[in-house]
Amino acid sequence: MAKVSVGLRGWRFDEEEIFTDDEELKPLDEIPEEPRERLVRLVGLVEEPCDVCYLEHGEDEIHRCNQAEIVYGEPKGEVLLCPEHERDLLYWFREEGGSEHAGTLEFADRFHEWVAAGNEAPEGYGSVEHVDEDPDGLPDLPDQQDIQERVEQDFDGDRIDILELAGESNDEGDELDEDDLGDVDLSTDYPSNR
Ligand SMILES: [Zn+2]
Repeated sequence: MAKVSVGLRGWRFDEEEIFTDDEELKPLDEIPEEPRERLVRLVGLVEEPCDVCYLEHGEDEIHRCNQAEIVYGEPKGEVLLCPEHERDLLYWFREEGGSEHAGTLEFADRFHEWVAAGNEAPEGYGSVEHVDEDPDGLPDLPDQQDIQERVEQDFDGDRIDILELAGESNDEGDELDEDDLGDVDLSTDYPSNR
């Protein structure tokens, strides 16, 4: 079964679980719960900054952060990274005990603590292996923006669920438009060790 990434590199989905034979995204209620949770979570993550950039620059200088392109970890315990900072996560994961936290919701917190303590991958780490990552290659995918819009559309009447999945509550309970969804503030999921 082919594995595909959607929106951000990292999380992999079984192609058959989320796409029809025509490479259309399946209706969300036909997608198994676990991949659906990650898919919906992704909608709230694709516009977010890299965690390491965010730790470096903070909310006040968020414009200096690179937008995340990579996601690792479990939904709600995930780490978002730009290509520049992916090697820090890889180094922490492989050499600094990060793999012990794989599969847990503490994964992101532990990595953030490591970064916040001033750690980073040594000079040159990961610069070679990065090239041949994903040797199988990605199959052609429908436009990823299109996928995101479809996910949002499918949940049109059910926006509160999206916000809950994104770890954000909407106390006002008013309907949200597309722009609001794009601006969902996930900062509560950012480092807990400020
Ligand atoms: Zn970064």
